[in-house]
Amino acid sequence: MSDFLVAIDGPAGSGKSSVSRAVARKMGFGYLDTGAAYRALAWMVQNDSGIVPSDLATDPSRLKQFDVNFKISTDGVDNSVMLGAENLTKAIREPKIADAVSEVARIPEVRAFMLELTRKLAGSCQNPGIIVEGRDITTVVLPNAQVRILLTAQESVRLKRRSTELGRNSADEMARQISERDASDAKVVDFMTPASGVVLVDSSDLNFEQTVSAVLEIIERQIHKGNND
Ligand code: C5P
Repeated sequence: MSDFLVAIDGPAGSGKSSVSRAVARKMGFGYLDTGAAYRALAWMVQNDSGIVPSDLATDPSRLKQFDVNFKISTDGVDNSVMLGAENLTKAIREPKIADAVSEVARIPEVRAFMLELTRKLAGSCQNPGIIVEGRDITTVVLPNAQVRILLTAQESVRLKRRSTELGRNSADEMARQISERDASDAKVVDFMTPASGVVLVDSSDLNFEQTVSAVLEIIERQIHKGNND
C-alpha cells in the first residue's frame, strides 16, 4: 500500500495524463489513469450488442461482466488496458469511444463501481506513492489524498494540444468533440474549479517540462512539510 497519494483532476487536453505519467516516473510512484477504465467500459458497451448504457443503471449486475484489468503503471510507461484477454490500450483512444464515454460515465451505478475499483487498485500499489488522475479524484474518490491538484488550461490551448489525437478528421471536429465532452462531464462532477484544499495549476502559459516541474514542486513541498510535522 502506497503511503503517499496524489490526486490530479482536470478537463480533456489539460495534459494531466502525460504530466502525471512523467511525474510518477520521476518520483518512482505508481500511476493510475481512471479515464482509461471509463473508456474501456464505453468500448464494452459499443462492442457488446447485448448491452445499452441504460442497462448499467437498471441492472448494475451487468457490470460484473466488465472484466477490466487496468493496471497501475509502476514505471510510468506500461499503461495497458485489458478487457478479458483483449488488449484495448489503443482502441479506447479512438474518437468514437471519446464520443460515447460521457453517456456511460454519468450513470451513478457506474461511478460507484469505478470508485470502488479505483480505491482498491490505489490501495494495492506497492510503490512509495501513487498518482491517480481523472475528474473526481480530488473531490470524491481520494478527498484525503496528501496532494490534490486541479490541472487546467484555457480551452484554446487544450484544443491545440489535442489536435493530433488519434484518427481525427479535422480540427473543427476535434474541437466540437472536446467541448461537448467537457460540457457533458461537467454536469456530473465539477473539475473546472478547485475544491477547498485543492491546488490549481494553470498550464496555459507553461510548456510540458514547466508543468511537470510545477507539479513536482507541489508534491515535494508536501513531502517536506509531512517530514517536519
Ligand atoms: O481522462 P479521459 O479524457 O481519458 O477520460 C475519459 C472520460 O471518462 C471523461 O470524458 C469522463 O467522461 C470519464 N471520467 C470520469 N471520471 C474520471 C475519469 C474519467 O467521469 N475520474
